[in-house]
Amino acid sequence: MPSKKLENFSRRNPQVAPYVQKLADYIRWLSEQGIEELVPRVAAVQLSISEADTLGLLSVFQDAGLVEPRYQLVCKPTGSVLGSYRSLKEIPDEIECNVCGKKHDAEDLRVDLVFKITQGRAADAAA
Ligand SMILES: [Zn+2]
Repeated sequence: MPSKKLENFSRRNPQVAPYVQKLADYIRWLSEQGIEELVPRVAAVQLSISEADTLGLLSVFQDAGLVEPRYQLVCKPTGSVLGSYRSLKEIPDEIECNVCGKKHDAEDLRVDLVFKITQGRAADAAA
C-alpha cells in the first residue's frame, strides 16, 4: 500500500480492501506508463465495479493525497481537451477553441472529471 491512510481504510473496511488494492495497483501501473491522469470510467472497467463505486474509492485516495480531481473542459465537436482546472469555479463560461478556431460556450463544451496522479511526486518528496 502506498499510504498509511489507505492501509487504515482497508483495515476498517475489509470488504472493500481488495478494490483499494486493485485501484492502487492500477494507479501505480498508470504512473509507470507515464500516464498522469486517471479517467474514472476507464478505471471502473479495469476494476469491474461501477463508476459510482470507483468515485467513492477515489475520494479515499484523494484524502490520502495520492490523486487530485481535475475538471477538463472538452470541445464537444472534436473531443479535444481545451483546459484542465482544479475546481468547477475556475472553468470559464466561454473559451476560444484552438482546435475549431471558434468561440465556444456551454452548448459546445463538456466537462469531464479526471484524477491527476500525485503519487509519484509524493514518493519523490519522501525520498
Ligand atoms: Zn472546438
